[in-house]
Amino acid sequence: MRFHVLTIFPQLLASPLQEGIIRRAIEAGRIEVVMVNIRDFATDRHSMTDDRPFGGGEGMVMKPEPLAAAIRQTRQGMEESHVVLLSPQGRKYDQAVAVDLARRKNLILICGRYEGVDERIRQHFVDEEISIGDYILTGGELAAMVIIDSVTRLLPGVLGCEGSVACDTFTRGGVKYPQYTRPRDFEGYGVPEVLFSGDHAKIAEWRFVTGIRMTLEKRPDLLAAMTFSKKELRLLAKHGVRLDAKGEA
Ligand code: SAM
Repeated sequence: MRFHVLTIFPQLLASPLQEGIIRRAIEAGRIEVVMVNIRDFATDRHSMTDDRPFGGGEGMVMKPEPLAAAIRQTRQGMEESHVVLLSPQGRKYDQAVAVDLARRKNLILICGRYEGVDERIRQHFVDEEISIGDYILTGGELAAMVIIDSVTRLLPGVLGCEGSVACDTFTRGGVKYPQYTRPRDFEGYGVPEVLFSGDHAKIAEWRFVTGIRMTLEKRPDLLAAMTFSKKELRLLAKHGVRLDAKGEA
């Protein structure tokens, strides 16, 4: 999978791309991240990529011509591409959107700056607008990195342990069960005994029930989209976990 990041600050993501799983995914050829400097497509002698807004008002707006030229050149020769404008006004990013994007071959991520990009780019050059949350960043680069990171770990062969995506928070809808590691006694705080039982079925049951309990506690909103088998509902009832408004499997 190839990510193309259109930005006026191509160095900004250098460090996050050089560490951990993302670096390994690049080295293994699972992903490629191509930084495209929008400034290289500026047409005037000052390499301007922004200008004052028509109608007056605060700040600067990213000019359409360099962006359009950068998108066109990036798309050249591609059979399939998906152009995403990072914007606080877009569809809210979540794990389901990440799964959706992970099916693409070429993602073109446009990073705005200043007051954002000329509206005609959004209307005529962009397939979708994505927001990583209801807050305003100074630019789209960190949002692009959030997408690169979360999509990359979904690609087959990227994570050392394939099972870990399957158990992740959100994969099934709820939050993941709590996890512990050594020491068994940490400043007087212990670890649930069942985890030392060696009984895998019992541990799986505890993890399932505790995950649902924690979802109820931390993110009850996620439960609405979850379904349960009859066996799971019986298990939850046995452990006194009430889903209340939740119906049958
Ligand atoms: N004036 C714009 C508005 O009110 O909608 C905000 C512009 S923001 C300062 C500059 C750029 O940062 C945006 O064009 C966008 O690319 C990026 N950005 C800011 N917040 C974002 C968010 N929550 N998600 C994705 N991108 C964001």
